[in-house]
Amino acid sequence: MISRFAPSTTGEAHPGTLLAALLVWLDARARQGRALLRLEDLDVTRVRAAWSAQMVEACAWLGLDWDDVVVQSDRRAAHEAALDALAAAGRLYPCRCSRADRAGGRRAPDGSWAYPNTCRGRALPPGGWRAASDAIRVQLDDDHIALIDDGGRDLSQTPALELGDPIVRRRDGVIAYQLAVVVDDHDAAITDVIRGHDIAPSTATQIMLQRLLAMATPRYRHHFLLLEPGAGKLAKLHGSIPFSQLRARYDGPALCGVLAHAADLVDAATPCTPRDLVAAFDWRRVPRGDRVARWDAHGLTIDTASA
Ligand SMILES: [Zn+2]
Repeated sequence: MISRFAPSTTGEAHPGTLLAALLVWLDARARQGRALLRLEDLDVTRVRAAWSAQMVEACAWLGLDWDDVVVQSDRRAAHEAALDALAAAGRLYPCRCSRADRAGGRRAPDGSWAYPNTCRGRALPPGGWRAASDAIRVQLDDDHIALIDDGGRDLSQTPALELGDPIVRRRDGVIAYQLAVVVDDHDAAITDVIRGHDIAPSTATQIMLQRLLAMATPRYRHHFLLLEPGAGKLAKLHGSIPFSQLRARYDGPALCGVLAHAADLVDAATPCTPRDLVAAFDWRRVPRGDRVARWDAHGLTIDTASA
């Protein structure tokens, strides 16, 4: 059993990323499996090397060790080989449709507007996908994917219709998330993908890409998220409680206790190490519903009632 924690390094680590890391690590250690850290640093418009370094450091500070560390930007050759294979199969096409073109159309399961596959049938330029100045999409089969993940979430979808053919290479040349994640999971022989449920709507698309690339499909489990109170609604926690502030207030065991309590793994937020939690780790204790995190003069408080 091999799983991975795969954060994008587009900002500081925060309680949500550290909770995700902890859950991946506990699941692997409780099953005598392996767990690797994959730094998803492809989006050159948003990533910073300092945030990659901090992610590694934050995990170690919390008490998490990894069996391997993969830097996604080192894997360009594998991503290009996958694009070549999809091109050889006649699956790639250029698309210059904008987000505005899709607005008012069909709502996708992730809340965005579905891409109605408008450009299917457009040919790549003579130089192939590398020479294209437009974004590149891959034509999926219009198959329905029936899938209940290990956490009981129904991820069944017909991704080609509900979301539309995914972009696999952006207009600016960046390899897109959906392609990179599939290729990297395969090459690392990942058997179990454990991640926040915000990514759950992408699962069926990733399975379709695995099929096109003749890659095995891993098991999936999507866990709850930490939310932050926003203007009238809750939003997924992101940069508002940065690691630099957490570290100034807590040590690793103290924060581990807060996170373990938020995940219903312990009865009180008393300091502990991840290692202390392995023996009793059980997904059936972990809540399904999202929880709200607050940061104030008292430090980090995570509601143990689901939002
Ligand atoms: Zn298009």
